[in-house]
Amino acid sequence: DRLRLDGKVAYVTGGGQGIGRAFAHALGEAGAKIAIVDLVLAKAEVVAEELSLKGIKSIALAADVSKPEDVQRILDAIVARWGTVHIACNNAGINMNSASEDTSLEEWDKTFNVNLRGLFLCCQAAGRIMLKQGYGKIINTASMASLIVPHPQKQLAYNASKAGVVKLTQTLGTEWIDRGVRVNCISPGIVDTPLIHSEDLKPLVQRWLTDIPAGKLAQVTDLQAAVVYLASEASDYMTGHNLAIEGGQSLW
Ligand code: NAD
Repeated sequence: DRLRLDGKVAYVTGGGQGIGRAFAHALGEAGAKIAIVDLVLAKAEVVAEELSLKGIKSIALAADVSKPEDVQRILDAIVARWGTVHIACNNAGINMNSASEDTSLEEWDKTFNVNLRGLFLCCQAAGRIMLKQGYGKIINTASMASLIVPHPQKQLAYNASKAGVVKLTQTLGTEWIDRGVRVNCISPGIVDTPLIHSEDLKPLVQRWLTDIPAGKLAQVTDLQAAVVYLASEASDYMTGHNLAIEGGQSLW
């Protein structure tokens, strides 16, 4: 079965809740060993424990993906534990919300540090290991905000950072495929996770709902098969791709 991941080693950043947690469960159920990486160790530990209860080998690691020393430390820990890494799920991301004219430099930098610099650091650190072994699958989490500007706006830093995720994915995906490393991204629409229930975003969600042809939010389960597919050899001829799972939202 080309969708199985038995014997593979994976990590998921932002794995402590929401989409990352769902990705970790899906990859683990497909056979991979999983390192759950999160800013908040306690959250990663809860998810690692959930996986262990299902018989999936897992570890919890704390890291701020925007810090190079943290990223190197988690890659070293994974290699020390399981020898290598085959699947890198670079999913950690944050979303802040203010009118563009009021967006502070602090908000801009914080958003880009996590959403884009963090992704660069993780892709590079994992990519070096993968290039050496001539095999790897990198799956980045972008957003349908990389394809359209969802109404109402007020997402300048977020939208720009996610467009950057797509271009980074395309560039690495074409640069590394002939050495066995595929880099793709998933662009979720609006997914029912703690992120969208933040005080900041709550008012927007009702408005966003009217823009979704599917007429409802995505659930994390709507994304799980996609990450398994992109992590598996079934997708080996695919690279630099941005896979939108957004209920048609980017078409309206
Ligand atoms: P979430 O806020 O529910 O979970 C994100 C997790 O990442 C949290 O556990 C948090 O502790 C962790 N995290 C935050 N900053 C980190 C850092 N610097 N280093 C390591 N971990 C960090 O978010 P989610 O909804 O699950 O979103 C996951 C990804 O999906 C993000 O990249 C987000 O932009 C993207 N996305 C989400 C939606 C949505 O509607 N929920 C839509 C499109 C894209």
